[in-house]
Amino acid sequence: MTEMHDAIVIGGGPVGSFAALILSKLGKKVTVFEEHHEIGIPNHCAGHLSINSLRHLGLYPLPRKIVENEFSVANFYSQDGFSFPVKLSKPVTCAVNRELFDKYIFNKAQDAGAIFNLNSRVQSLIIQNGFVKGVKVNYNGSKKIFKSKIVFDAEGISSRLLKQTKLVPLNPKKLVFSVNAKVENIKNLQSNSVDVYFGKDYAPGFYAWLIPTKDETAKIGLATNIGNPNDFLKKLMIKHPIASKYLSQAKIISKEFHSIPLGGPIPKLYLNGFMVLGDAASLVKPTTGGGILFGLRSSIIAANIANMAIDNNNFSSDILRLYQINYMNAFNFDFLVMLKIRAFLNSLSDNKFSKILRFCKRIGLNNSIRNVNEIDLQGRTLLKAILKPEVSITLFYLLAIYLQTFYIRHNIH
Ligand SMILES: Cc1cc2nc3c(=O)[nH]c(=O)nc-3n(C[C@H](O)[C@H](O)[C@H](O)COP(=O)(O)OP(=O)(O)OC[C@H]3O[C@@H](n4cnc5c(N)ncnc54)[C@H](O)[C@@H]3O)c2cc1C
Repeated sequence: MTEMHDAIVIGGGPVGSFAALILSKLGKKVTVFEEHHEIGIPNHCAGHLSINSLRHLGLYPLPRKIVENEFSVANFYSQDGFSFPVKLSKPVTCAVNRELFDKYIFNKAQDAGAIFNLNSRVQSLIIQNGFVKGVKVNYNGSKKIFKSKIVFDAEGISSRLLKQTKLVPLNPKKLVFSVNAKVENIKNLQSNSVDVYFGKDYAPGFYAWLIPTKDETAKIGLATNIGNPNDFLKKLMIKHPIASKYLSQAKIISKEFHSIPLGGPIPKLYLNGFMVLGDAASLVKPTTGGGILFGLRSSIIAANIANMAIDNNNFSSDILRLYQINYMNAFNFDFLVMLKIRAFLNSLSDNKFSKILRFCKRIGLNNSIRNVNEIDLQGRTLLKAILKPEVSITLFYLLAIYLQTFYIRHNIH
């Protein structure tokens, strides 16, 4: 007879492994299938994370070898090279080595009792009478069926298996296409600051980043909603008025391409016996493309609901819908604000963006946000900051620009 698992997790990325860790700690029998032969490889991600959020998730401090750097400064640049530096009173973000970060969570999950099967690609879901009851796996060339009470889909952005269900997958029109590279021989870069470059000539529809790691090495990358990200990267390194100063002599050591979903959460995150987590559910910040922390938060909530469902021997939507309710109660506001910010940023011309940065610098916005320590939950961070005069003036200014752009676009006089 086929063995029955409490939960099966599809995907050994950070989100799948974290869900396995939490549920295993709650005493449940969890099996993870990962299609690659090693956890954390290939790595497509910059690994730039909020320290405060990591701490809240019980993941900070991390072992020293995983943390490549900590940052208290962010420099925002408009296309013409105008800079708006934000210097915070203490380090607020860090860069992690994604391969080691993924392996760290994987090891913790294994120690808690989760079983990992590498080289094991889930080919399809087993769906019977409207319930997801397990998975069909291609394991080293042979096909096997594994049954479980609940299946977590943490397969990342490909969301191939999600398409087998009636759930609406992530919106392909809201994807941006990215390149993330490791470079060495970087010159004159401030080691405690992250650079963010805006402008349609270099990263239309998103932005480019430069994240120093150690010993004149850095991670650079960008995403775009049109064209080939690799062409934009070459241009950034050679032609950008600021980035080229650091990067024109740099050597690319490795390079990965991947997409980032910016459309906000998919409409429904569960079915009978099934929950969708992390990138597969598009739980990614529409502003920055950061998906690790919002994905890890989905793992915690989903694992706790799964635990309750297993204890009650009820794996139907009646219980699993609490996953979506709890997640959205906690983060819907942040997603709504971030979606608005993304739409606003996409509507701006480079000229307008540059004007906004100049305005922010003129009124000293950077000084009034010196003590911000959470950059992840952007809706509530904005809400907290709104009482500061510089922030509210900036919001009025942005509103004026938004209305101006809206009227011009819709030809209203
Ligand atoms: C260029 C770039 C830069 C980024 N930078 C940041 C950043 O700085 N900070 C941040 O927070 N986020 C960042 N992100 C986003 C971040 O990488 C993702 O949000 C995160 O990896 C999501 O984790 P996940 O576990 O949901 O998915 P993934 O990390 O994609 O893991 C999914 C796993 O499932 C496996 N899998 C897929 N299908 C199957 C199957 N059928 N059977 C078995 N296994 C399967 C895959 O092999 C993979 O290991 C970036 C993304 C990109 C592209």
